[in-house]
Amino acid sequence: SVVTRFAPSPTGYLHIGGARTALFNWLYARHHGGTFLLRIEDTDRARSTQAAVDAIIDGLSWLGLTWDGDAVSQFERRERHAEVAHAMLAEGKAYRCYCSPAELETMREEQKAAGLPMRYDGRWRDRDASEAPAGVAPVIRLKAPREGETVLQDKVQGEVRVQNSQLDDMVLLRADGTPTYMLSVVVDDQDMGVTQVIRGDDHLTNTFRQLQIYQAMGWTPPDFAHIPLIHGPDGAKLSKRHGALGAEAYRDLGYLPEALRNYLLRLGWGHGDDEIISTEDAIAWFNLEGIGRSPSRMDYAKLDNLNGHYIRLADDDRLVGLISPRLVTALGRDLGDAERDVLRRAMPGLKQRAKTLVELAAGAQFYVTARPLPLDEKATQLLSADARAQLAVIAGRLKNAPDWTAATLEGIVRAYAEEAGLKLGKVAQPLRAALSGSTVSPPIFEVAEVLGRDETLARIGDVAG
Ligand code: GLU
Repeated sequence: SVVTRFAPSPTGYLHIGGARTALFNWLYARHHGGTFLLRIEDTDRARSTQAAVDAIIDGLSWLGLTWDGDAVSQFERRERHAEVAHAMLAEGKAYRCYCSPAELETMREEQKAAGLPMRYDGRWRDRDASEAPAGVAPVIRLKAPREGETVLQDKVQGEVRVQNSQLDDMVLLRADGTPTYMLSVVVDDQDMGVTQVIRGDDHLTNTFRQLQIYQAMGWTPPDFAHIPLIHGPDGAKLSKRHGALGAEAYRDLGYLPEALRNYLLRLGWGHGDDEIISTEDAIAWFNLEGIGRSPSRMDYAKLDNLNGHYIRLADDDRLVGLISPRLVTALGRDLGDAERDVLRRAMPGLKQRAKTLVELAAGAQFYVTARPLPLDEKATQLLSADARAQLAVIAGRLKNAPDWTAATLEGIVRAYAEEAGLKLGKVAQPLRAALSGSTVSPPIFEVAEVLGRDETLARIGDVAG
């Protein structure tokens, strides 16, 4: 059965490219009813941090990309990696190399002078350990094939070939006994039973080396799919300059995980003309054939539009829960039960226009702002002496409304506008200013209904002349 994995190096946050790689592996496993594993590639002790591990786990959890079983630490498996290097040594698939750093440096310089790429020349391939110089701790190198070629049938890139003469005998185990990255990845993927590797095409050259290790061990390699990297809107490789952020930053910016999932899915994978793809459909449809061969570009407007779509679909209680912390921060106090109730009733109207939770919270704030409401500049301008006088009359009529529904309130205000020979907007805009403190809000009679009789009349009372 299908086993995929996400194998991040914990040297920073879960960036957008990593999140997409994780998503593709997760979808592929879920589509096939297989297993999705998480392996933390923490062998670089100097650059790996616990904070980065936490950020990655946090980001994946927020995105809903749940992995099966416990996360595997690559570093903790180092003895197993070394064991495999020694097994290869014992089978003659690898050998000890006693080159000193100075010797390698000379080799490098000679090759450079000759215009050749740096390649270890294999000088210890067939030498006997009895020739070993004293005091040099050896590394273990793979005895890689020198003839022929290594062929990769990549599920995205197609067939890719490399002449074995282009690849030198890579180090498997360092002089201090620690395994190299190349060895660790292969041993882990083998031991974890990984059947399908999906990763960025920046790993393509590593794959040829890894295939050589599989071959030497007589292991069947997994299938590979190398996906093109994500570029910025300008087509250059995605960088911080483009706002390449960690997953948690997208949460802070007010994106919903399902929106980011949909966006990331479309960033390099397609299903006809479909843009809005639920996670359920994504699981049903995901395949490697749909992965494009050219780099995809970040399109923040598209992400915003998708997010707006998922906000409109989201459950109102959930949205109230998501914006509440933002409102608490903005107001500098907790929200009461009655206020949460107002927000819940306001949500169907509020969520129609917001593209992010930041916008949603900003648009909702007037509902829970304590009286007297601060008025923005335009609202202040709208509330002329005439307008205030009209509002006083309107308040008198609203007081007697037989019920407090948007339709009834609208009827009362319309009747007043007709009598006064005014267009509805002339009356409704000052009312909006009084109730929301601004000139933009959800439909104003809806706002009044949500605020309720007492609060509506009190807000009008605060400005009416
Ligand atoms: N640790 C590697 C990275 O973060 C991924 C290795 C792999 O997927 O094989 O780029």
